[in-house]
Amino acid sequence: MPSGYADLLGQTAVMERLVDAASRDELHHCYLFEGPPQVGKHTAALRLAMAAACTGSGVRPCGRCKMCNQFHKRTHPDLIEIVPDPSRKSGTIGVGQVRELIRQVRLRPYAARRRTVIIDPVDMLVPQAANALLKTLEEPPPGTGFILVTSRVSSLLPTVLSRSQRVRFRAVPEDVLVPWLVERKVEHPERCARLAMGCPGAALELGKGGLEKLDAVRDHVVELVEGGTRFRLAELEKVGKRKDPKKEALARIAALETLLRDVVAFSCAAGDRLLNADRPDVVARWAVRLWPRGIERLQEQIDLSRQRMEVNVNPRLMMEALFAHVDRELAE
Ligand SMILES: [Zn+2]
Repeated sequence: MPSGYADLLGQTAVMERLVDAASRDELHHCYLFEGPPQVGKHTAALRLAMAAACTGSGVRPCGRCKMCNQFHKRTHPDLIEIVPDPSRKSGTIGVGQVRELIRQVRLRPYAARRRTVIIDPVDMLVPQAANALLKTLEEPPPGTGFILVTSRVSSLLPTVLSRSQRVRFRAVPEDVLVPWLVERKVEHPERCARLAMGCPGAALELGKGGLEKLDAVRDHVVELVEGGTRFRLAELEKVGKRKDPKKEALARIAALETLLRDVVAFSCAAGDRLLNADRPDVVARWAVRLWPRGIERLQEQIDLSRQRMEVNVNPRLMMEALFAHVDRELAE
């Protein structure tokens, strides 16, 4: 079982401040942990909850006492984690979940010095649920603290923001993340770190087979662009019939974006730091055609495609239009 927080990669300064406050019983009643996805916010929230409940002496969490043990196993009733209800297709947190939570926190904590409620991601609360929670966030029952977690702070209600103390989690620098991945025997640690944009959780997932999947999508994008119109239309028809065409389309947009970023890096003499370091041939070929004006135009097209996806344009039609654009830019 871990003690302290030194193993939380790259977030030491933030955690030092919080755990210090926990040790003095001076935690704020509602924190908002914000930062990119999979940077370690939820792990940090769990560790802070553990520190706030820990009954050991010295460094908190001590990693030895009964509280630490049960919080670590996430089985203690004074640790409440609210996540999207898996039965809701929308991935949201519903008003029923919040009402149940409010009922629960009105009761006294069972045994911990401090009960912690973690809501992750808080931006997935439906508006009615967020409104139902406001009063409790403002004045939580004694002995109860909230940690709200989000990677999309701009989509939060101002009323939620104003009740929270904001804590920012930043991406972990590559020179810290790479050795950490090497320790965990992740293959291609540099590429995983770069593609994960400094988020340890995402980098680990890439290391556990995610990279192969990502590369397969990227290779498909290259084929879609370079394979000619007939091939492209036939392929996109197949993709359009898969289980979640929107997800497939967004994955392809993301892959295209990594290639365009690499064209920029390559053209600015940073070719040793490519996201697609395994395909320097494609990057070099595209750079000749696209740098610099084509990149600008394609980035606009990508932004436009994402906006269209938000308003539910057919993913197959969107991809047809986007990849035809790339094809044309490369042909010029
Ligand atoms: Zn402890």
